[in-house]
Amino acid sequence: MLDSISQISKQTLLNLTKKGKNFTPSEYEKEYCKVANELNLSQSECEYFKELLSKISKEEIIQSNVKEVESIRDIIEILLLRSPRKNIDKMSELMQSSLQPSISLSINDDLKSFCIKIGDSPSLIFEESIQQEMEKFIEKRFEVDKKIVAQKTADIARLISLMNKYLSDAIDSSKSGSSNVSDIKDEIQSIKISGSTKDELNQLQTKLVQAAITIENEMSSVSKNLETGKNEVIVLENKVKTLERELAEAKLTSTKDFLTGTLNRKTYEEEIKKFENEFIRKNQNYAIIFFDIDHFKSVNDNYGHECGDIILKTFSSLLLKLTRDLDIVGRYGGEEFVVALHYNDKAELDKYVSRIKSVITKNKFIYKNEKLKITFSAGVQIRSNNNSIEETIANADKLLYKAKQTGRNKIIFWDGKEI
Ligand code: GH3
Ligand code: MG
Ligand code: MG
Repeated sequence: MLDSISQISKQTLLNLTKKGKNFTPSEYEKEYCKVANELNLSQSECEYFKELLSKISKEEIIQSNVKEVESIRDIIEILLLRSPRKNIDKMSELMQSSLQPSISLSINDDLKSFCIKIGDSPSLIFEESIQQEMEKFIEKRFEVDKKIVAQKTADIARLISLMNKYLSDAIDSSKSGSSNVSDIKDEIQSIKISGSTKDELNQLQTKLVQAAITIENEMSSVSKNLETGKNEVIVLENKVKTLERELAEAKLTSTKDFLTGTLNRKTYEEEIKKFENEFIRKNQNYAIIFFDIDHFKSVNDNYGHECGDIILKTFSSLLLKLTRDLDIVGRYGGEEFVVALHYNDKAELDKYVSRIKSVITKNKFIYKNEKLKITFSAGVQIRSNNNSIEETIANADKLLYKAKQTGRNKIIFWDGKEI
């Protein structure tokens, strides 16, 4: 009975979405009874649902606020009506990347477990305490980003103001030095040497010596200033170089998934375009393989998320190790990975996937004192069998789905072959 109720509920939600109607109790009830009639639901089951519905509306679980209902409808549509787990994982991944400080490289464990918690039970996002927690993460993200940007810009601003100071010092002293020199020059020119007395010549000599001393002092203070300035500039220059390196590394890390070191989904999607270009320009064929760890949720449930993370890290490091540098490995979502390989012949591809299967399944994964056996399912497609990159990806995913449906722990190829 519960099965048919869930089937009718699903159809009811679909119909309401299609008709653009709000999820109010009365609309829901009308549509529900219509669907129930079409499916010949027995009277007692319909009564049971009516009773349930009146309880729900009394408790005001379903609200008639249109905005809320619309967003609930969107979410229900995403969560229930389309391939559910993938969207939940994607949503959890999106949430994590939107809350993660973008410049700071430190990974916040609290944030990660928060996102996994939401990924496991998406309905939590309606809870006030969870929304407050989310707000705190957003505030924290701004704070951390602001602090780092402020620190980095302060160093650069200091360097600029220092350069400015030494430049204007140098200009000022060269100005006063040259004005002294030109005063003395004028005086020298105004003195008539032939008619000058010894005293006048002595005075002139003293003035020339004084001028020389002033110039000397100024020159030495300028060069001293330039010397200390130069040292400070070198220190700051090194600091800027370190900052540049850190920023480049930050950019590099953002191309990779922080847990597994494989390419993140965005970078993977960019990189795969290069395979497509080579296919179009040079007719270089390529294969797409989707891997998904079997019953991974039960690893988390039985041994905890930390164990799940270690399994993910080990699984991906084996994938990376067994894949050539010219091919690419990306994390497509939760425990799903995708590989793009240059395809030359079937034997080579067989060898590659067989090797991965035997390394993963013949060894045990170790977590603390536990030894775990891990299996995975995979779907393999090649580009030349398909009309586009998107079709190749979708068909590889379909083969993975088929491997899951038909017992798991298997790799299915485009021609039906299984390993
Ligand atoms: P199936 O054999 O059908 O693939 O079953 P499954 O349990 O592997 O698949 P399902 O899609 O039901 O669950 C995947 C789980 O992976 C759910 C989610 O909590 C977990 N997960 C996703 N990302 C992470 C992660 O980064 N770390 C950990 N520990 N778990 C994750
Ligand atoms: Mg899985
Ligand atoms: Mg999965």
